[in-house]
Amino acid sequence: MTSFDASSVTVTFAGLVAAGLYAAAYLSFVRLMRFPRNWLPPSLRDVLTTGLLAVLAVAWVSLSPNSSDLIRLTSLAISTGFIVVLFFIVAAPAMAFRPANGLVEFLARHAEYAGLWLLGPALIAGWLVPNSKLQAMLAAAMAIELSWFLRQHWARRRRQFHPLNLPDRSVLEIQAKGDLKAFRGRHGIRELVLSEGAISWRGCGKNTPPCPFNFYVNRLGLNTAPCCREHMRDISHYVAACLSDMGAVHWLEGGSLLGAVRENGALLDWEDDIDISVLLDGDLTWDRLASGLVERCARDGYYVDLFEQKSLAAISFDAPKAWPFQWERNRLRGEIRVDIAVYRRATSHGEAVLERQSYKGAMPATEQGGYGVPQEIVLPTSTISFEGEKFSCPNKPSEYLRILYGDFEEVEYTYLDPAAAEIRQQTGLP
Ligand SMILES: [Zn+2]
Repeated sequence: MTSFDASSVTVTFAGLVAAGLYAAAYLSFVRLMRFPRNWLPPSLRDVLTTGLLAVLAVAWVSLSPNSSDLIRLTSLAISTGFIVVLFFIVAAPAMAFRPANGLVEFLARHAEYAGLWLLGPALIAGWLVPNSKLQAMLAAAMAIELSWFLRQHWARRRRQFHPLNLPDRSVLEIQAKGDLKAFRGRHGIRELVLSEGAISWRGCGKNTPPCPFNFYVNRLGLNTAPCCREHMRDISHYVAACLSDMGAVHWLEGGSLLGAVRENGALLDWEDDIDISVLLDGDLTWDRLASGLVERCARDGYYVDLFEQKSLAAISFDAPKAWPFQWERNRLRGEIRVDIAVYRRATSHGEAVLERQSYKGAMPATEQGGYGVPQEIVLPTSTISFEGEKFSCPNKPSEYLRILYGDFEEVEYTYLDPAAAEIRQQTGLP
């Protein structure tokens, strides 16, 4: 091999390492974003892993052991700045889960292609700075952004039209103050199709990204989209069937139970997830529950996300993707999901309770630092009609709801953005 060949092999290898380190940091960062979109604080381990990978990528790109300056400062500044800006763009939709500043909201609205806005700066930097490792890193980043955009673009074509029913339309018209076109443009509601006086919704499916309905429902105060509602119904019955199959004692929880009791077996109009609780009892351990769900959902095409430290499992409607795409960005603005919270038997203040780790409604704290309900309110579980089928529920559903929400008969828009909630309240809509 000539010396020229040897050096070009070294350059290619160095470039591939730079691209690989960036891709690893990116994937780790996307995985980290599953915490904010599940309303959880990020795990320290995931934060450190992402930080370490990003630092390694920047260091690899900037180090130059053969030249007089050990560190190429221009490359250091460009690679650091690029990663910070691009990761900020990637994170914007997850940050906008809660009200955020104008820039974050803007980036979240254009999340599909905002990363590609860095294409110009990347080309200029790659052209001006003769560092092949930096060029490879920038190329890898832009290739990822381009593939993300194209996959979103193609998925959009698979969306199908759903008519909007009268209550959904009137809520939409009220929140839009009558000007649907301006409202759609202002908030980037691309699913809303207006033509010749007809209003319809370009709905999500199993192989499209979900409607970004955390934003539409919780922030804009709209009703849950018809497609999302349909999928929530399907997945709630699917998960209940899995749990029954495993012999797991389970019951409808939180807002889903509230819908079943107060709305005569329907979902709340602004429902954004399905809540089901499971009792770990007898030989049902967390590991058995988790592996049972993972196995069934993999077979039937649902995605399972496990948060063992919080004793939570989230099951998403979208089809599971091959590694490394399972942590994709497409769920960052909401996903159709069943949240499973785990309860264990405990004694608190001399009373038999069922206890969970994570906070729910106004459920009182237990002596052990969890949250609990008296056992006899839940067990033995009863059944209630929910979205057209019988569903397992607490033995005393109304008492259960009173513990969570107090006077639950009164409709409160606590999940919605205060401004959107106020407009909705003024109209007196159910
Ligand atoms: Zn949808």
